[in-house]
Amino acid sequence: MGLPPTLIAEVADKFMAIASNQAARRADIKSAYDYIVVGSGASGSVVASRLAENSDKTVLLPEAGGNDLKPGVLITETWFFNQGGEFDWNFGAERSPSVNNRSIVQAMGRALGGGTSINGMVWARGHRNDFNGWASETGGVNWGYDHILDIYRRIEDWHGAPDAERRGSNGKVFVQPAPNPSAIAPAFLKAAGRLGIPTFEDQNGVMQEGAGGAAITNVRIRDGRRLNIPSDYLYPVMDRPNLTVLTGAYANPLALPTVLSVASNSSGKANCILSGRQSRSYFLRVFRHRSC
Ligand SMILES: Cc1cc2nc3c(=O)[nH]c(=O)nc-3n(C[C@H](O)[C@H](O)[C@H](O)COP(=O)(O)OP(=O)(O)OC[C@H]3O[C@@H](n4cnc5c(N)ncnc54)[C@H](O)[C@@H]3O)c2cc1C
Repeated sequence: MGLPPTLIAEVADKFMAIASNQAARRADIKSAYDYIVVGSGASGSVVASRLAENSDKTVLLPEAGGNDLKPGVLITETWFFNQGGEFDWNFGAERSPSVNNRSIVQAMGRALGGGTSINGMVWARGHRNDFNGWASETGGVNWGYDHILDIYRRIEDWHGAPDAERRGSNGKVFVQPAPNPSAIAPAFLKAAGRLGIPTFEDQNGVMQEGAGGAAITNVRIRDGRRLNIPSDYLYPVMDRPNLTVLTGAYANPLALPTVLSVASNSSGKANCILSGRQSRSYFLRVFRHRSC
């Protein structure tokens, strides 16, 4: 891998600590947690990780899908084979006459990392006008581009040409310009330029503030491997005793007053997740199968 031996030892130690901590957590499922975050996709991974930073609070993260440390997730070149496979919910839209009565595929990730474990790995930020449009529609200034740009700068670990105004370099989210793009990509860009479409070095820089244009994508790939959001946010805290990550655990919708769901976790043991409502707040309880 070309990594220094000390770094390899550090990474190995971290994974051992995660494995033994999560095995202990799974063997000791509590009847209640301070927070239950359902689904470990892009948003769930971040929220659970931030909540678990408070060691006084317990956090449960049930994820319907399985482990993400698998070749199908990690190998970048074959990412599109995941659609319709074991890491996909395999949803399809209603058949519609407007598409010749076909059911159009609606891929959605079902694994630790959710969509970030099967997606195209492109780091695509929104355009200034979109954010400012949402701010004006909602009256919420925090939707505005300036505020969002601050967040992007804070979370990014950008490895392309420096742009201190728009790109961050001290965050958790590693992003780089696509390494070794196919020869078709620069040729495509050149053709766009010839047609009068402005071309840019960086997809997420000044291009997202102007009239538009074309650029080769930024990607979430490091040393040839996919980076999903758990790799940035969840794995760093999965050795904490207050965080339980339960794969293979499907939580039924919270809106129903007493929903019972039985799901197997990755070690094959079944857990039940109950949800209900007490006065104004919802609760979700997790029980071992036999005690449900
Ligand atoms: C094929 C594909 C390619 C894409 N390409 C890109 C790209 O290149 N760049 C980009 O920016 N975006 C891309 N996206 C979109 C991006 O991945 C999603 O926008 C993002 O993952 C959404 O995050 P989320 O947290 O809302 O949901 P998700 O990441 O989908 O996470 C939801 C999680 O919740 C779990 N879950 C759902 N219901 C339950 C339940 N009842 N109980 C327990 N767990 C549950 C799911 O299994 C899943 O892990 C792509 C998506 C797909 C499917």
